Amino acid sequence: MLQKSSPFMKQANLINGEWVGADSGKTIDVINPATGLKIGTVPNSGKAETQRAINAAAEAFKTWRKTSVLERSKLMRKLHDAILDNQDALAELLTLEQGKSLAESKGEVGMSAAYILWYAEEARRTYGDIVPSPWADRRILVTKEPVGVIAAITPWNFPSSMLARKIGPALATGCTAVVKPATQTPYSGLVWGALCEEVGIPKGVVNILTGSASEIGGEITSNPLVRKITFTGSTEIGKILIKQAADTVKKVSMELGGNAPFIVFDDADVDRAVEGAMIAKFRNSGQTCVCTNRFLVQAGIYDSFVEKFATATAKLKVGDGLESGTQQGPLIDEKAVEKVEEFIADAKQKGGKVITGGKRHALGGSFFEPTVIGDAKADMLFTKEEIFGPVAPVYKFETEQEAIDLANDTQFGLASYFYTQDLGRVFRVSEGLKYGMVGVNEGMITTVEAPFGGVKESGLGKEGGHQGIEDYLDTKYVCVGGLGL
Ligand code: ADP
Repeated sequence: MLQKSSPFMKQANLINGEWVGADSGKTIDVINPATGLKIGTVPNSGKAETQRAINAAAEAFKTWRKTSVLERSKLMRKLHDAILDNQDALAELLTLEQGKSLAESKGEVGMSAAYILWYAEEARRTYGDIVPSPWADRRILVTKEPVGVIAAITPWNFPSSMLARKIGPALATGCTAVVKPATQTPYSGLVWGALCEEVGIPKGVVNILTGSASEIGGEITSNPLVRKITFTGSTEIGKILIKQAADTVKKVSMELGGNAPFIVFDDADVDRAVEGAMIAKFRNSGQTCVCTNRFLVQAGIYDSFVEKFATATAKLKVGDGLESGTQQGPLIDEKAVEKVEEFIADAKQKGGKVITGGKRHALGGSFFEPTVIGDAKADMLFTKEEIFGPVAPVYKFETEQEAIDLANDTQFGLASYFYTQDLGRVFRVSEGLKYGMVGVNEGMITTVEAPFGGVKESGLGKEGGHQGIEDYLDTKYVCVGGLGL
């Protein structure tokens, strides 16, 4: 068990290289969702602390932006190594505050390291252009420059890797950062500060603070020194941040909610589809924005899929993420459990059948039974709303076009999945789905090499891939004239 004295459990803000409390001295308790017990506290900061963090980042930007790309890339490689050298301790800290199984936490920390390495490599490839000039005596140069101070706001479901995707491109491009992790899971965010310090990233380049979301968010979005906001969280809060950022015309990157369909066609390999369904639904107890929200299964394969899926679901081992063998941890809090109960009650009342699970787990607290609901219908709440919990509604459809139409009938457009062995269908359906990401015969597709992101109300911008660095750069056109003929 991780001790409070662990060098990784930072209970303070990092502002301009100093670990400090909130001005008011007030703190927020951090709770282990598996036990309901307090792990520690973090500062309850507000506007003044945020201003200081932004000023520190603006000051640090003056020198950090001038470091060579090779120098930054080398520091980032050290950061990558530091994460992996401490993978076990970081994973334990993550499980302690977030609840997911230790195996998933290790995977997430590994993913964080992979993003840092990816951006360390991409840093060296932010090429500009020299464009053929229409004037004989002038040359046209197009260069890329760091946008400046960026602010990152992250959620509790992937408290480590969501920051890797934001701190990575910021460091790579020469931007400096002000970071606000979610208050439920602040330690996996604050630890980025400790790791950056350890590898020698200069003070003020990465500043991290915890506290009032609206006060910190209000300052971040209105302060003219912040040139870009990168947010992962709900569509509701994303819309507020976009509106607030409008007055100072900041760049915005938004990774927002999803309503992922998982389509199983009659010609699919059912066992492979069930395997994919388990990971696409129950990873992190269903608390990811790319988790399946709706299973759409063709009539001919419906019974066989539901039976195999429910059998696999009933076998999931629920428990404290720190215990070996646990596959499903608790939900993040009581509110999340109540929301899941509401979805199930609504479905039952409208004719849905609970095939397995359906209620709070015998372990109590915020543990919930992995659940499969058959006979899901369009008028049920989860057709439109994001579940964010271990509940799998299964709908029946007849034709390919009906499946595409049902899948697209949402304001969201993040991840989607489908299973078929028909090559023509692979292309027809993947082109028909209005989503930023499509998994064909795969239930887990996130990787640093590919652009992660949504369309419609699921967001703006991409994280990962060569695209992930673009939002951290401004394009500058330089016209060099008077060169003679
Ligand atoms: P979730 O439902 O996953 O908690 P939220 O969108 O509520 O998603 O939260 C994601 C992040 O946004 C968290 O760090 C949270 O503290 C922060 N947040 C919530 N409200 C605001 C706000 N008004 N301004 C800025 N950040 C906010």
